[in-house]
Amino acid sequence: MPSKVLSGATYGVNAFLVEVETHLERQIPGFSIVGLPDVAVRESRERILAAIRNSGFEFPLRKITVNLAPADVRKEGSAFDLPMAMGILVATGQVENTVLPGFVMVGELALDGTLRPIRGMLPIAMEARRQKIGGMIVPRENGREAAMVSGLAVFPVSSLKEAAEFLNADHARPEPLVVDMGRLFDQDQRYSADFADVKGQENVKRALEVAAAGAHNIIMIGPPGSGKTMLAKRLPGIMPPMTFEEALETTKIHSVAGLLPHDAALVVARPFRSPHHTISDAALVGGGTVPRPGEISLSHHGVLFLDELPEFARSVLEVLRQPLEDGAVTISRSRLSVTYPSNFMLVCAMNPCPCGHYTDPNKECTCGAGLIQKYMARISGPLMDRIDLHIEVPAVKYRELSSRESGERSAGIRGRVTRARRLQAERFAGRKGLFANADMQSRDIREFCVIEATGEELLRMAIARLGLSARAYDRILKVARTIADLAGVRTIQPEHLSEAIQYRSLDRTLM
Ligand SMILES: [Zn+2]
Repeated sequence: MPSKVLSGATYGVNAFLVEVETHLERQIPGFSIVGLPDVAVRESRERILAAIRNSGFEFPLRKITVNLAPADVRKEGSAFDLPMAMGILVATGQVENTVLPGFVMVGELALDGTLRPIRGMLPIAMEARRQKIGGMIVPRENGREAAMVSGLAVFPVSSLKEAAEFLNADHARPEPLVVDMGRLFDQDQRYSADFADVKGQENVKRALEVAAAGAHNIIMIGPPGSGKTMLAKRLPGIMPPMTFEEALETTKIHSVAGLLPHDAALVVARPFRSPHHTISDAALVGGGTVPRPGEISLSHHGVLFLDELPEFARSVLEVLRQPLEDGAVTISRSRLSVTYPSNFMLVCAMNPCPCGHYTDPNKECTCGAGLIQKYMARISGPLMDRIDLHIEVPAVKYRELSSRESGERSAGIRGRVTRARRLQAERFAGRKGLFANADMQSRDIREFCVIEATGEELLRMAIARLGLSARAYDRILKVARTIADLAGVRTIQPEHLSEAIQYRSLDRTLM
């Protein structure tokens, strides 16, 4: 009878359980792994042999066959080391199999038998619970991540030996790991950067507050050194606190990307990702032979910041369009196709011209009109259609820099943003794909952004006088809706519209 040990593997941000069957035969010694293992899985043989011997167990001089079921799904990585080693120990009677069916186990083995953490622990733990497996044996560094799944008893161990002793224990076993969820959300929900540290730039802070309140994408235009990056970095800190569901989704992505810090339980702070403009398509949207999540998915429920937007390759900006529309990206390979969520706030920054000083009163711009036009043309088009707010970031005045007065703290702004989002959640309750004002389509705008005659008149005049494009019209209404929500007002007032009109600077001055 072959021994059976349960394990798991990821597929995108989801997971499936794998049955590791081990069969021994009295033949010429050998060790083969079947069931679509990749190179890393095949290399496990050397690690398992050394780990078993160095843990004080006997490695059988038999013909060993390990089958990973289901056999038609490709298995990758080193997470099967522990279950395969355990399968051999069970098949040779060195470990009891009485409680074995109640556990899923994963972990990479070092040659000395210690366990190393794996990626994708959270999705595997969630799948184990879904399939009603009661417990998991995991590497110690992955313990807190697995313990996020309620109703699953997680037992972190440091080595193969410890895992074997756990299964062989004939008396009381240790208690499963419990993570205090309330404390986690309370304490880790912190952002090191605060808006109080940014001197001046009150208009920009206000625009970022509006953006956060309606989940609007935003672009900042200003000379170098005006603090665009500093401001963008503080945006996650004024967005509403992450819900548990959001934290789980974001953690899954960081987990399968192998970016979750060891011993981390959950990503509870909204991510801020800031890829360099030399980034490739694949690194931005995800890719590789076994597709890994890209920057747009690592920013899920957080902020993707593209600094120096015109420097990004056109093809790179082009691939952003679909995920911005769908909140998810599907990566297709010949053998498999994987979908990663990518619901992020896009924040872009750029200089007003190639030299950077076009709008700077203190320095002279050396670019000609033709050059500036060409520069602006690089960002036009479909991507700009997804950006509701444009804000000019002026060079910081000396008086503001030297001021001792500190600005409002992020927590205060976050309070207003959260209240505005709550209004939107109530308004859009039961509507599919509609969570915040930025998600509104034309039909929704007609329904939810009703303006009175004075407002209508104001908007018509602005469009005519400032030469605003027709497509700017809907965006102004959406942003005005958010400004009214921030004010806690049901109907959009003329002052909300005037403020929203100010956030279309690219439509009138530069393009
Ligand atoms: Zn210039």
